[in-house]
Amino acid sequence: MTDCIFCRIIRGEIPSQRVFENEAFVAFRDIHPAAPVHVLLVPKRHVPDLLSLRDDPEGASLMGALADVVPEVARLCGVDRTGFRLVANCGEDGGQTIFHLHFHLLGGRAFGERLL
Ligand code: 5GP
Ligand code: ZN
Repeated sequence: MTDCIFCRIIRGEIPSQRVFENEAFVAFRDIHPAAPVHVLLVPKRHVPDLLSLRDDPEGASLMGALADVVPEVARLCGVDRTGFRLVANCGEDGGQTIFHLHFHLLGGRAFGERLL
């Protein structure tokens, strides 16, 4: 998508602090970090949100690829031993603001508060 901000970051048209890239995903630091480590794991292909994966023939393999990306990015960011939180906001009530699927990897501090 030409005007999607994350597609533009992936294409290198908007600068970002990239920490990881493979054939399926790019990971870069969030511009407004909510923790000492706050990295966005973003599929290179434009997918609007988690729900869109349901009708996507590549949806399952994309989520499978995420299983490789998460531990690798956690290791690169130095939080694989201390732990982290992985968050995907979906839709209006989920608080999603950028409609290109992404996963927040947050670490470097303890998240004592519980959401549920
Ligand atoms: P959402 O609210 O959709 O789950 O998360 C979007 C995230 O993207 C927010 O945490 C926001 O700070 C981050 N973000 C928005 N614009 C940019 C940008 O231009 N560069 C980077 N690196 N992060 C961005
Ligand atoms: Zn996009």
